[in-house]
Amino acid sequence: MASRVAVIGAGPGGLAQLHAFAEAGKNGAELPELVCFEKQSDWGGMWNYTWRTGVDEAGDPVHASMYRHLWSNGPKECLEFADYTFDEHFGKPIPSYPPREVLYDYLLGRARKNDIRKYIQFGTAVRWVSHNAEKNTFNVTVEDLKTGDHRTEEFDYVIVSTGHFSVPNMPDFPGFEQFPGRILHSHDFRDSREFAGQDLLIIGSSYSAEDLALQVKKYGANSVTISYRTAPMGFAWPEGITEVPLLTRLDGNTAHFADGSSRRVDTILLCTGYRHHFPFLENSLRLRTKNVLYPDNLYKGVFWVDNPNLMYLAMQDLYYTFTLFDAQAWYARDYVLGRVNLPSADQMREEIASWRAREEALSSMMEAVEFQADHLRDLLQNLDYPKFDVDMTVEHFRTWLGHKQEDITGYRNRGGFASPVTGTVSPALHTSWWEMLDDSPEAFLGESAGSAK
Ligand code: FAD
Ligand code: NAP
Ligand code: MG
Repeated sequence: MASRVAVIGAGPGGLAQLHAFAEAGKNGAELPELVCFEKQSDWGGMWNYTWRTGVDEAGDPVHASMYRHLWSNGPKECLEFADYTFDEHFGKPIPSYPPREVLYDYLLGRARKNDIRKYIQFGTAVRWVSHNAEKNTFNVTVEDLKTGDHRTEEFDYVIVSTGHFSVPNMPDFPGFEQFPGRILHSHDFRDSREFAGQDLLIIGSSYSAEDLALQVKKYGANSVTISYRTAPMGFAWPEGITEVPLLTRLDGNTAHFADGSSRRVDTILLCTGYRHHFPFLENSLRLRTKNVLYPDNLYKGVFWVDNPNLMYLAMQDLYYTFTLFDAQAWYARDYVLGRVNLPSADQMREEIASWRAREEALSSMMEAVEFQADHLRDLLQNLDYPKFDVDMTVEHFRTWLGHKQEDITGYRNRGGFASPVTGTVSPALHTSWWEMLDDSPEAFLGESAGSAK
């Protein structure tokens, strides 16, 4: 009997997995039975925008954390699929920092091309996965969200690609209970225009803090105070955005900070990151990790060391995204197809430990990029994934970091990034991002490459 593979989640990770199998199938491989369970009614994961917060139409926690007016925060050239280029999808060069809807369209373009939708059961949430030691199989219990019916199916392999930016990390601070304004996490942030005229306090100093500060200011907030725990981001912020040390307490609307300063604020935005959260996995199968580049217990960043028939995709802190997911998915596929063998558990643990030690010693963002590029190269060297220029993407990240230091409101305007697959060089954005309030695909693509509307 053909083996059965469960893929949990149809976001970029799960789609990469289905695509990887479909590619092998086209080249003559005999495929296992593939079943992808997706709790949402459509594919694309985080990129599938919803206005909802709290619970979704089925009463499940809303998965999406993306918001209106979200644009790529890294050059698209660093995530370009080697087997489905931007040139192929758009038919012309486009700027390097597309808004969400444009990247969503690109992501789905490849998925449609390979007809992988047929593998996905939508509106189906995985509720419990347990391991049957006797048979070395997994029992996967799912809920049909339309009917509320549960059923349990048996699989030989389980691939978890449910993302890790959906369940907020929610710290508490003295005075929150009495704060008369709204306190929300970036997971629930949807539209910057809601905060026009307000004085906002943002807690956190990573990508959400950086981008939400810019977004709310761009759409009319009066001021933004960003409070950091470890270190300030240190960008040359536009007028009205400042960084201060950690919040110590609130006194009504007045926020007090560790340096003794204080400020009146209307709304508090917690940009304090997310939790890896897998309530559907039994204890012995459950990944527990912070948001790091090389989580413990995952060989090659993918295989659960205690039982490699369980795999995880995209569980890393991310510089690389779509191409990293592809490499992981290709590797997982080759394991399932019997094309690669894994070393002993001890050897896997040793290799993980050496990556972990190297990560612990990283001291800059650029070192983090280089670390993740090495992880990517380590996967690619064993795979038949089409070649692309990883060294070039590392240089793109270096340029990107430099552009952000120079001009945090202007880095998304910059072109000049060559595709690591085709060599096509991106044009600059036709209008300054800071002035451009319309993030529709038409506005973005319309005049950008000098083409007709
Ligand atoms: P997700 O995209 O999160 O998809 C997981 C899927 O699993 C979802 O469809 C979900 O419904 C499903 N699922 C979850 N639990 C279950 C269950 N129990 N049963 C069934 N289905 C389930 N990346 C970039 O490259 N560029 C960006 O500009 C960028 N911006 C980002 C902005 C924000 C605010 C956030 C939070 C992330 C951003 N990312 C960005 C990173 C983004 O997470 C990845 O690009 C990508 O979406 C990860 O893919 P994934 O498949 O691992 O997870
Ligand atoms: P993150 O990178 O994990 O950062 C979490 C932040 O929260 C860190 O700065 C951390 O501070 C801080 N924090 C955690 N607990 C805290 C506490 N108790 N008090 C104070 N600070 C605390 O999470 P993220 O910024 O939400 O980013 C998640 C993902 O979304 C990333 O992949 C990012 O690229 C993506 N994203 C993209 C865009 C876009 O524009 N396309 C926008 C937003 C997010 P320490 O440093 O002190 O630990
Ligand atoms: Mg996925």
